Amino acid sequence: MSPFPKSTVLGYPRIGPRRELKRALESHWDGRSSRAELDRVGAEIRERTWRRLAELGLEGLPSNTFSLYDQVLDTAVLLGAVPERYRAADDPYFAMARGTEGLAPLRMTKWFDTNYHYIVPEIDPGTVFKLDAGKPLGEVREARALGYETRPVLIGPVTFLLLAGALERLDDVLGCYEELLGALAAEGVAWVQLDEPALVADRTPEELAAVRTAYERLGAVRGRPGLFVASYFGDLGEALPVLAGTPVEAIGIDLVRGGVPVVDLTGKTVVAGVVSGRDVWRTSPERALAALGSVRASQVTVSTSCSLLHVPYDVEAEPELDAALRSRLAFAEQKVAEVVALAAAEFHGPAPAEPSAPLAGPVVAEGRSPYAVRAAAQAEHLRLPPLPITTIGSFPQTGELRAARAAVTAGTLTQEEYERRVEAEIEHVIRVQERLGLDVLVHGEPERNDMVQYFAEHLDGFAVTRNGWVQSYGSRCTRPPILHGDVSRPEPITVRWATYAQALTDKPVKGMLTGPVTIVAWSFVRDDLPLRDVVFQVADAVREEVRDLEAAGVSIVQVDEPALRELLPLRRAAQDEYLEWAVAAYRRATSGAGDRTQIHTHLCYSDADQILAAIDGLDADVTTIESARSGARILGAVESFGRGLGPGVYDIHSPRVPGAEEVEDLLRRTLRALPVERVWVNPDCGLKTRTYEQVEAALANVVAATRRLRAEL
Ligand code: GLN
Ligand code: ZN
Repeated sequence: MSPFPKSTVLGYPRIGPRRELKRALESHWDGRSSRAELDRVGAEIRERTWRRLAELGLEGLPSNTFSLYDQVLDTAVLLGAVPERYRAADDPYFAMARGTEGLAPLRMTKWFDTNYHYIVPEIDPGTVFKLDAGKPLGEVREARALGYETRPVLIGPVTFLLLAGALERLDDVLGCYEELLGALAAEGVAWVQLDEPALVADRTPEELAAVRTAYERLGAVRGRPGLFVASYFGDLGEALPVLAGTPVEAIGIDLVRGGVPVVDLTGKTVVAGVVSGRDVWRTSPERALAALGSVRASQVTVSTSCSLLHVPYDVEAEPELDAALRSRLAFAEQKVAEVVALAAAEFHGPAPAEPSAPLAGPVVAEGRSPYAVRAAAQAEHLRLPPLPITTIGSFPQTGELRAARAAVTAGTLTQEEYERRVEAEIEHVIRVQERLGLDVLVHGEPERNDMVQYFAEHLDGFAVTRNGWVQSYGSRCTRPPILHGDVSRPEPITVRWATYAQALTDKPVKGMLTGPVTIVAWSFVRDDLPLRDVVFQVADAVREEVRDLEAAGVSIVQVDEPALRELLPLRRAAQDEYLEWAVAAYRRATSGAGDRTQIHTHLCYSDADQILAAIDGLDADVTTIESARSGARILGAVESFGRGLGPGVYDIHSPRVPGAEEVEDLLRRTLRALPVERVWVNPDCGLKTRTYEQVEAALANVVAATRRLRAEL
């Protein structure tokens, strides 16, 4: 077996440096370009990646890190796990990813603790696994034709089955992997990478036994390529000795999130992830070299802590960033150069910033008056009808508004003219809500490009990028802001728009803010302070905004925290501490409000089960939460919250308009689970991605259903 290369990366961005894949996908989906055109763009991106990695001096080039939608979906296809109902579709792959007329897509959820979303494979007892190795083999051949030998990257069998909730099918799936190893060997492939990130979370003895079985069986395949099992996003813990006891030749270890293994790995190659794939900071060479030096193994290869999928392409594409900040940054290209330099042990970089001392003492969750006192003051002040109807904040974002924002940046539209258009949009949104008969109105968020970026642009301590796109799912990308310094709020951010909206109507208008945990979760964050301290700095800025809104006469303020669950540590032992400070930060942000100011919060996911106590701990007067989409599953769980609750009655993720009967049915179910005084009526989430036509029709039905129920009270 040839030795493992001395430097590599676990994966690379694939959306294209200028989001070429996004454009090609969307144009193909809209029927504006052929499949051949899409494939041509994909091939260009792959070629450019291999060429660039080789130019930078990287030895071990990965392949099969490209995907037209998602690597987990690719693995399902590789194993033949395509549910029957999609097989007749024109394009079963995109049908599973996005749905087609009359066929809902497969479920999508977050990839571990990242903001990347994968397609959840659907496996049932009837699933027949059958290898279809076309994609990985094709990429190996394609690279070879360009002069590059590559290491195909695949999701490993244990992680794949754990994500699908079907570990009992291990035996069948291993058959496919065995066959695949044979096919790769026949192709002359020297090494294969099997990703097993699921092994960095808590695993049962049965699951660890499955790891042993899997890699003993794959290790026994005759003539196979070298096996490199990659872990990332944390420590392997108990899974490391298990893996080390199998015939796999190389093990990938995340030395950024996890510690240097105490296990002696003599006889193995350790692929040491010392360059972070989860942040945008340059690597401290001292720390990296120290970590590399303390690994006990037969060979140590320098690598990234995980795929570089989670960072943007190139700092050089950001000429507008402040020079001092730029010198601290490394995106994918720069990180590859760091890997190469570390492997040559001639790395020259910045001295490591010493982490400052953490906040002294335990976190204290600040409180407001008891809920009963607040509720009475709010009822008196707001005088809302029973079952008050509201929305989550955003209204449809029109193409005109997005174009106007771009024109301001380009200098072809004045700030004054832009603000006039935003005001006109706010007035439109207010009139629509009045006409429909909603009770608590919103201004519609037309001035916001994104619920996090907007605040980042208005707070000190953040920078925003021009081309720093990161894939979120499929063709969707986000441009996470960079939180690089101490956060503060130089001046009020939302007060101008909130008061403009309130002056247009006698109905209460909710102020709309993003919570501190979500702002931090969706940004790249400085690593020289404990995360908790950073979140508290943001919480203080939000707190000032809440108080200014209140002082300006806004009686209801919503502070969204949809990312509360996202930062939850993967290991149970660390979860309580996180939830404690996350809740305390939220309360810090909101507890400056007086009794008669009503605080709303909003979360949107159905798997809130794990963090229900924390959501309750936020102590918001009203919590709006996704429910319609997940079939009202949440109701039983939130029943114990003693405060206002708005389980969604309209699934905004679908263009479908729910009928009044359907909404009425959901409301009746809600009223069977919760006392009427506590129930609010609202959609599952913001309306930003829908059209006015859909939204107005749906909300009219929501109002009609609510009125019918009110008449029965
Ligand atoms: N207020 C935001 C909106 O309505 C909330 C979005 C979210 O929950 N992700 O768009
Ligand atoms: Zn939401």
